[in-house]
Amino acid sequence: MSTFSDQESNEPAATLWRDGRPVYDRGGTVCVIGAGASGLTAIKNLKEYGFGVDCYERETGVGGAWNWRHDRSPVYASTHLITSRPFTEFPDFPMPDSWPDYPHHSQLLSYLEHYADHFDLRPHIWFGTEVVRVEPAEGDRWDVTTRSTGGYGAERTSRYAAVVVANGHNWAPKMPAYEGLDEFRGKVIHASAYKDATQVRGKRVLVVGAGNTGCDIAVEAGQQAARCWHSTRRGYWYAPKYALGRPADQVNDSFGLYRLPLRLRQWIFQWVLNLTVGDLTRFGLSRPDHRLFETHPIVNSHLVYQLGHGTINPVPEIGRFRRNSVTLVDGRELEPDLVVFATGYLPRFEFLAPELLGTDASGRPALYLNAFPRRHPTLTVAGLLQPDSGLLPLVHWQTVMIARWLRLREAAPERARAFAGRIDAEAGNRWHSAKVKESTRHWFEIGHIDYLRAVQRTLDELEVAA
Ligand SMILES: Cc1cc2nc3c(=O)[nH]c(=O)nc-3n(C[C@H](O)[C@H](O)[C@H](O)COP(=O)(O)OP(=O)(O)OC[C@H]3O[C@@H](n4cnc5c(N)ncnc54)[C@H](O)[C@@H]3O)c2cc1C
Repeated sequence: MSTFSDQESNEPAATLWRDGRPVYDRGGTVCVIGAGASGLTAIKNLKEYGFGVDCYERETGVGGAWNWRHDRSPVYASTHLITSRPFTEFPDFPMPDSWPDYPHHSQLLSYLEHYADHFDLRPHIWFGTEVVRVEPAEGDRWDVTTRSTGGYGAERTSRYAAVVVANGHNWAPKMPAYEGLDEFRGKVIHASAYKDATQVRGKRVLVVGAGNTGCDIAVEAGQQAARCWHSTRRGYWYAPKYALGRPADQVNDSFGLYRLPLRLRQWIFQWVLNLTVGDLTRFGLSRPDHRLFETHPIVNSHLVYQLGHGTINPVPEIGRFRRNSVTLVDGRELEPDLVVFATGYLPRFEFLAPELLGTDASGRPALYLNAFPRRHPTLTVAGLLQPDSGLLPLVHWQTVMIARWLRLREAAPERARAFAGRIDAEAGNRWHSAKVKESTRHWFEIGHIDYLRAVQRTLDELEVAA
């Protein structure tokens, strides 16, 4: 069995063979797929634990979703963070104090670029190179096949000691199916194709979906379009960005840290919402059919303002499409020129056979701590989290945990076996004290405090004496 190397594997690769193809042996090097926030912090933490790392990135720059130059970037010109700065930065790399509470997406890209430079991560990244296959090889190793993005050039297969999948889960649009959609003559786009308000200016726009993106687009359409309807399936809790004079996530976090019971936190925040936004049913929105924290937080201070000014018209779910109109479930007929489906994204791992991540028929992988699949100890996933807080600090600790796990397997196989047993028993567990609604939108929903406590316990358990 091969072990992880402590040095960069820059020596000429020995050639192995698989189905008549050459396979370049990268020894103990770990392969990271993707150089977004998750991939970058994976490279950094693996390096700090002494691993050689090769990262493959299909685009030509770092930053993933936050790099608006990328084909698949879901950000639009007006995107600002919905999580506040201290809850979004990596714990070992603060954002500048002069930055606002909720930085613009271009600031987040600049932050990730500085992170990559500061920790000297770029020499590890093969840009413009996409991973097309990841296959198990002998001794818990992995054959990773890459090619130039877009399918140009020859494929190349390299054998790695371990793989960290950090390919993001906000780039493959989830499009709903409706009767009559094919014959509708208006324009239909997914939110991933929405880039700025020029796309809605002067039009009659129907925005579908009440996630954070749907609310942002509805707000822009409310200001710029000739008419804006906002269709949602149910009532939601719309939190303002500020509460009690502080960014709302900071207030919420302080209640969680004092271990206030969930019911009490729900009661306090309900009270805060009553004080700030009040009862939204008076604007025509449905009353939420669930308690606070049982759906992914929607944070938007402008939506209620626009509702109050009558520029956004809330409407129920779509029933069906017709050639020139859309019929709502309450029988009303709308005639939009443009329909924007802000209906979210689905995870995609085209380069992996579904059983490797324990993926069920609906496409949801079964992972322990959203990172470890059963039976494949050297295959891990980073960043597959939908937190009620910023992702970056969580994925930092998640990748420290992955690095420790890979070290422990070598140093203390007995202890590693015990942890592998836990992965088998608990893969797919949820990390949220609230009873989160069942939907693809909540597949990876976690409560950041519940999750971090579990990661902290695991970090202690995986510690290897120096
Ligand atoms: C509109 C919007 C607003 C958001 N706001 C916030 C916020 O306020 N706070 C917050 O914490 N999070 C927010 N997020 C979540 C955001 O996705 C994360 O902050 C973060 O970008 C996730 O990083 P990642 O590295 O996991 O994925 P990504 O950023 O998607 O990076 C994945 C990388 O993998 C590469 N890749 C994919 N497949 C392959 C392949 N086969 N081969 C090689 N490379 C590959 C991609 O090109 C990409 O660079 C928001 C998301 C959206 C869509």
